[in-house]
Amino acid sequence: MFSLKNNPSPTSVESEVINDTTPNGNEATEKCPLCGRLNNPGAVDTCEHFFGMQCEGDIIWSDKYVSFEESYSAFVDFRDQLENLSPSRVTRLINQIVREEFITGDLIKASSWLENSPTKIIEEIMDFKYGLVVETDGMLSSVGRSLYHHNPGLVGSIIDSYELLTRKLKEYSEQKNNGKP
Ligand SMILES: [Zn+2]
Repeated sequence: MFSLKNNPSPTSVESEVINDTTPNGNEATEKCPLCGRLNNPGAVDTCEHFFGMQCEGDIIWSDKYVSFEESYSAFVDFRDQLENLSPSRVTRLINQIVREEFITGDLIKASSWLENSPTKIIEEIMDFKYGLVVETDGMLSSVGRSLYHHNPGLVGSIIDSYELLTRKLKEYSEQKNNGKP
């Protein structure tokens, strides 16, 4: 089974050419590392395992990632407003909410990395498989690779968890502000 998981360096450009078409009749540009379907992400012709394209530190072609980024950014924005609390107090508070609300343990880890980007967080939480590394030439040359996951819908529960976390943080800070002049 082909996977770049153990060799994720973007410099290892694969030159394997897939001379075949997808089930929908588009020119195949890669194979899903999970089910082997021939895919063409650029033509929005992929199996259900396709999550998005990782490109120059960003994730593109992914509604799921956009939704995740919104919920994660809302969480980070609110967390950073709690400036009257020390970072360690904020981390303890987050851990407490995670425990009380039975939020998945991976989020405890991810949420304590105060400086991480949303692309890093989603990569740490989801165990992605990678498609071929693709390099485009010319002035706007870039290196990208597809992200695949056995259950891309998992991102829905991650989004729910960050929304819950933000809501609980808000409740906490409102309680704290009650009674203050
Ligand atoms: Zn697949």
